Parts: sequence; C-alpha cells; structure tokens
Amino acid sequence: MGREENGVAPPQRRFRGKYRQPAWRRSEGQPVAVMVLELPVTDPRTLRRLANLYAAAWHIKRAVQRDARARVNAYWAARTQRKDKGPKAVRERLGLSREGLQRAAYQHLEDSGWLRHHLTKALAMHLTGEVWTATQRHLFGDATGKRAGRPKAGRWWDFTRIPGRARSHTTAAKWETFRLVGTLEGHVGAFRHPHLPQDVHPHTPADAAQLPPGQSVLLQPRRMATPTVPTGHVPTGNPTPSGRRKATWWDYDGPLAVVLTGIGGGDLVLPVRLPQGCGCWPRVLHFLADPDAWHKIDLVRRRKPSAPGGWAYEAHLMVLRPGYAAPGTVELRRQAAKLDRVGGVDGNVSHLEVVSLPATLDPAAGPVLSSEITLSETDKRRLLTQASKRRRRQRALDRSRRATNAQQYGLSKRQRKRAERRQVAGLPGKTVQMPRGPRAARNNGPPSRAYRTDRLSKSYQHHRDRLAANAARAAQANKARAMLLARHLIGIHGSNLTIEDCDIRAWFRLWGKRLSQTTPGLLLNALEKECAAAGGRLLRASTFTTAMSQHCLCGAAVRKYLRDREHICPACGLTGKRDLVSAALGIFVHLDDPNDPSTARVDYTSSRHAQLVFGSGLQEALRESTAAYLPLASAGGGRAAATRPQRRGPLLRETPDPKAGRPRMRPEPRQGSGHAGKSAFPPAAPVAYEPRGKSWAATT
Ligand SMILES: [Zn+2]
Repeated sequence: MGREENGVAPPQRRFRGKYRQPAWRRSEGQPVAVMVLELPVTDPRTLRRLANLYAAAWHIKRAVQRDARARVNAYWAARTQRKDKGPKAVRERLGLSREGLQRAAYQHLEDSGWLRHHLTKALAMHLTGEVWTATQRHLFGDATGKRAGRPKAGRWWDFTRIPGRARSHTTAAKWETFRLVGTLEGHVGAFRHPHLPQDVHPHTPADAAQLPPGQSVLLQPRRMATPTVPTGHVPTGNPTPSGRRKATWWDYDGPLAVVLTGIGGGDLVLPVRLPQGCGCWPRVLHFLADPDAWHKIDLVRRRKPSAPGGWAYEAHLMVLRPGYAAPGTVELRRQAAKLDRVGGVDGNVSHLEVVSLPATLDPAAGPVLSSEITLSETDKRRLLTQASKRRRRQRALDRSRRATNAQQYGLSKRQRKRAERRQVAGLPGKTVQMPRGPRAARNNGPPSRAYRTDRLSKSYQHHRDRLAANAARAAQANKARAMLLARHLIGIHGSNLTIEDCDIRAWFRLWGKRLSQTTPGLLLNALEKECAAAGGRLLRASTFTTAMSQHCLCGAAVRKYLRDREHICPACGLTGKRDLVSAALGIFVHLDDPNDPSTARVDYTSSRHAQLVFGSGLQEALRESTAAYLPLASAGGGRAAATRPQRRGPLLRETPDPKAGRPRMRPEPRQGSGHAGKSAFPPAAPVAYEPRGKSWAATT
C-alpha cells in the first residue's frame, strides 16, 4: 500500500511460483460440450485396478469429507472465539480452507501405502477441491444468502465420477490425470470395417461421415485389445548429444485410448469404443477430429448389471466447442427463426397447449395455429403396464428382503391368526419363511435395526440393479422425447413463446410422485433450450399480474374453477378449450423487463384486435388443435454406452396397438383406482407427452 501511495505501481501478482505466467483460463462465453466415450474394459486385471482406483478415490474423498465436517462442527461451536478473534482466524486455526483440506488429504495419502499405490496425488487434490467447494457453499452462502447444509460423506453407490484435471493449454504435452491418446485416423485404420470398399473410401475419418446410410465404418471386437505405449526412440530435433529421446504416449497414434499414468502397477490403459454406423460419424468428427479442442476427461461409472463387476465405465470428454447439431436440426432451427410468429404456452401436469399468430398480427402473413400435446390412450395403457411391472418388481424385492431378514419382521394379521388356529387345534407350530407384518421398530418409530445392515441376497442385488438401470434408461428416453417434441413445437410456432411462470415444485406438492412420469418440467426445459438455440426465447409471465386462465381475449374476466375445462365468454361469445384460450392470451403478454416475470401484463387492445381480424380462424384454433404435421428431426446424441435398440416411442405413432390381433392373456389394466380423494384437482394421467391433432393422426 505504501508503494501505491508513493506513486509506484504495485508489482504484478505472481501465479503459482516465481516466474510463472498467469494460469490459463477459459474465456467467459466459450462454449463447451461433452462427449461420452464408452470404455469397454474386459481384461480382469484392468477391471480390478479400476475397481481399486474407485475404492481409493472414494476412501480419500470420504476421509476428507469427514475432516471437513468435523472442522465445520468445531467452527460453529467456537462461538466466543469467532466473536473475539473473527471468523477468519478461527477458520485458519482449524485448517478450514482449501489448503488445510489439501494438507489433510496428503496426510491420508502418506499414511496409507495402499491409497498411494492406487491413486495419484493430482487426483486426490482434485477430489479435495470438490469437498472444499461443498464446504464453501455451507460456510459462505450464495448471492441470495442461502447456505447449503453441512458437508457429509456420500454413499459408495452414488460415487460415480472421478474428476480429471484439464489439459494445459499453455504447455505442450501436459495432461495431468486422464488423457486421451491416439488419433481418429489410427482408430479407423485399426478397426476399419472389412466391407468398406477399398478404392472408393480411403482411411480418412472425414470420408466415413460421407458414406451412404446403413454403412458401418468400424468393426470393433467385443474384447478390445489394450494399446501399449510405443517403444524405441524418437528424434527430438534439438542439438543434444544423442538428438533423440525415449518414445512416450505422446508419440502414440494408434486407436483411441484413455490413459492414467502415475499409479502403482504401471499405466492404466482403457480402450475406447466408438459408434460404428456412419450416421454417428459427423458427431464423432465434431468431437474427436481436432485434438486441440480436447479439454478435460472425467472417469465415470454407472451401474450395469450385465457388465463384469456390475459397472460400466465411460470417459466424459469435454471439448472447447459447442455441442453437435445435426444438419436437419440446424435447418429446422433456421426455419423456426424465419417464421416470425409469436406464441403462448399453457402448461399443466398432463398436457401442454401452444397457440401462435404471425408477429405482425396480419391474417395475410399466416393462420392461427394451435397444438395440444397430451397422452394418447395407447400411451396411457403402456404407462400403466410399466407402472404395474415396476410395482411387481418392487414387491419382489420386498419379499426377498423379508425372507433373508425374517427376524426383523413381525407376523401379519393373517399369519398370526393361522398360528393361533393351529395352537387351538393342538397342531405343531409352522415356521414362517417370510413374515408379512411390520418391521420391528422402537417405540418412537425408527426401525430397531437400520435397513442398511440388512443381509441381502445376490438375486436381490441383481434385481435392484436392473431396476435402477431401467429407470436410468427411461429417464434418458424421456429426455430425448422432450427434446424432439420441443423441436417439433418451435418448427410450427416459432421460437418466441411466452408461458406462465409456474413452479414445478408446487405441482410436485400437489400431485406427488405421478408427476415424475409425466415430466412436464423436462419438456419446459427442452422448450426453453430449443427456443434459445433458434435465436428466440421462452419468456415467463407472472400468474398474479396476468391471470390468463381467468380472462377472455376480449378482456372480460371469465371465472373458472380448475374443473371447468371449457371457456365460454358471456361478453363476446368466444368459446374454446380453457387451456387453449389461456395459451392464446400468452401471445399478447408484454414484459417491461424480460427477465422479471412480475412485470408482465396482457395487452388486451392487441388481443381484441386479433379477435376481430382473425375471426373464425381463431375461434376454430381455440376449439381444437389445428397445427399441421411436421416431420421430426432424428434424435441425435444420447449416451453412447447405454444405447440399445429402443422401441419407437409414442411420438412416431408406430407403436402397434397391443390389443390388435392378439389373444388377451391378462385382464385389462385398471384405468384408475376409483378413489375419489380429497383433492379438487383432476388426477394426473401417468406419462410422457405426445402431440395430438387432426392432421397429426391423419398424416401418419
Ligand atoms: Zn370475451
């Protein structure tokens, strides 16, 4: 400070050591995207080493999490000291800082030879960084003053990601933890499909992307060989006495592989499996053709009951470029941006409505279009079947747990009565294999023995894993479907849409778990993303300042309860579906500040004008959806390692009717419990969305 006062510039801040440059940082708006690379590890030794790597990483993370928690507890307990000496001094004393936790992690590593053998210090530091971030969120809170809970040790099953360090962009050949070695050319050269015509398509990956549909680029074996580090020497080009150096992974140009060096037992080399069909290759090229864009690799595992060891491994490669969009999607977004329409959206638990007009409000520029998206009867049936299947599996799990931990459960009423009957009749007592009564519990409620200490059979574990894998697959499919649907909608209605600012969490409170099957939040998120990608925006308008469900386009207030599904305006005579009218009002919402939903108001002058100029067209659009069918773009992306030949979803309307031409094997699933309930709201139909409309069904 003294030097500043004397007019002398303060010395430049030093970064990481004496003469170092400032650390490289990703610039603010630079896009990043992640590609999932499948790592088909089949070699038993590599699998064991990977399992040990995960175990070591989890142990060190848990140890540091416990350290952090203990220090946080001590910090909050030292109330007087915080007041007298200041919070910072207390944190310093306790070692409650990034550096303090890193020291603790080092200590753990040094204390345990096993940990050090299976883990590098860089990985331990990175895991510690994650723990410190969580601790920071607890200690300091965010911009709104909200603080996260105290850090706590996670579960082994939730520990799926080992974060890697980013590649150095200032020093060549520096990639500290997981690195991707090899080249795309090397991969094509090694696994080129034998049916590829030798003369027409040479070995370059760029040619592979140009192949006609249906052609496979690669043929990779089920058990992929583990690449080895190059041997021999390479010339350095420097005028040193020998003029050459030993070859390393940096000189390797064979098939792609992920390498971790610096752990005991030599380099951990994991072969990479790429998508084989040429349809995926534009995307493969986008991510892998330019090694300069590779930024960082995280090692991720996910439960896969059929994989050896029960886990499938993936490398999540982050690249410094935007995500891939298929040419069809790019074209669709371009068309959507050119549409020059404005639309309103009305979302609800089990359906979604969109109505749009030309932005100029000129009938010559285009008609009123409306779309209703809801579930078809086929989907409802399919979802009910799925739900009952899930419940059956859950019950099977419960039976298995009861059978292996019989002493923790009491007899059911029926079992008890039977035992009493036998006793009265003088018959010997029967051993109950599976008690169906309640879990043995303490007087105040909690079970007398924790569930986590239960003995679980192998088949229990297998079925539980299968359930989890199915749930993950279903979530992935829902996400893909939501994305397709969002694209379909912006293709018709343009990318400038307005929706009521609703809180999905409130819906969850009202409708509970069933909402997780309909996933309206997923669709709204997808719609928001697609609008932004097409250069528009999904605006949110407050319900309190607009009350769109309680008004007519003419401006008159039309009171409706939630059970009233029809809108009939006594003032202007407009009739239509309640949600379509509400969505149509969204078109005329103006926001003084687009980022603040509470500044929204409905411009009834414009809506009255539109009502006049569009006349019967508007009236018809509000009675039923009128949007024309639009071919959907194909679903790109997804999880490479998880893809399976998927059943066509309801979007394409090709699912055969399960009842048609097949003998009935089971009674019809129940269409509802018949339970009236207390809620004034209609019961939510279970599922995902599907467009419905006259022309939609007619076209397909
Ligand atoms: Zn009216």
